[in-house]
Amino acid sequence: MEFTDALLQWYDRHKRTLPWRGVGDAYAVLVSEIMLQQTRAAAVIPYYSRFMAELPTVDTLAACDEERLLKLWEGLGYYSRARNLKKCAQAVVSEHGGAFPRTAAELVQLPGVGPYTAGAIASIAFGERAPAVDGNVLRVMARLLEDDGNVTDQRIRDRWTGYLQSRMGDRPGDLNQAFMDLGSLVCLPKSPQCDGCPLSGFCGAFAHGTQGDYPNRGEKRTKRQEELTVFAVRSGDSFLIRRRPPKGLLSGLYELPNRPGHLNREEIGAALTELGVRPLGAWEIVHRQHIFTHVVWHMQVVRLNAERAEVPGFAWYTGAEPLPEAFLKCLK
Ligand code: SF4
Repeated sequence: MEFTDALLQWYDRHKRTLPWRGVGDAYAVLVSEIMLQQTRAAAVIPYYSRFMAELPTVDTLAACDEERLLKLWEGLGYYSRARNLKKCAQAVVSEHGGAFPRTAAELVQLPGVGPYTAGAIASIAFGERAPAVDGNVLRVMARLLEDDGNVTDQRIRDRWTGYLQSRMGDRPGDLNQAFMDLGSLVCLPKSPQCDGCPLSGFCGAFAHGTQGDYPNRGEKRTKRQEELTVFAVRSGDSFLIRRRPPKGLLSGLYELPNRPGHLNREEIGAALTELGVRPLGAWEIVHRQHIFTHVVWHMQVVRLNAERAEVPGFAWYTGAEPLPEAFLKCLK
């Protein structure tokens, strides 16, 4: 199954009920999308309903006097958008005989209509396989593919538009609206609700616990600094390891026993007892650092020899287990 199929299945069950949905009318899509550029959907509903009751067609908007228009827009702010909306309506009436052009390429020529709004109208009202790439889509796609491209760069936006163009399928309007809903309800900027996300099985950021790192907005990012104490417990040629959790950094690989923070000597002794390790002789401490894409580990490494006994939850390295470089350097 493609991620777009999973998204559409989720949309069929969870889509928001909104007054401009299911109308299939280009004018309704235009008005709603322009209003949604500045305000959340729930807040837009009363403005949209009042606007459509007063100006139900593109002709009525084109002929509306400016004061009445601005009064209807009152509370939404960004009045230039209302003026552009009227200019757009006038262009539709004067240049297209009152009927909206049916393709994104033509729609984007209208005043105040950008590529996103053009894609939304063309796909929702006319069924064109045109993506509507906005911040929601960019966030979801960057997380899905762990793509580090700067989403404020037009070339990256164009790249995603091209990527999605070939995946629009038979329900392009629904797919665009599904992205809108997923971005508004689930894949939230600060706190993505991955457990309830239909795309979690496809999502690289979810698999690696890196949701907070995407999308890249071009801000200079500082890497997270983490301290940990790593135990390099040797017995002959082998050392103690265990498998890391299935999710998050280095998921599924192996690791040396470790604890968060730099422990002092008493805490190290207590941790070894807790692990069930019986040291043979004194231990030594060295320091190692490992730099990942988004985090730096500052490792205090406790090196010691121990009896080759069974340690619950751990195994002795046989040479076959994949051990990441961060831990290999603790052994060198
Ligand atoms: S799994 Fe999480 S990060 Fe990935 S698309 Fe879903 S909500 Fe967004």
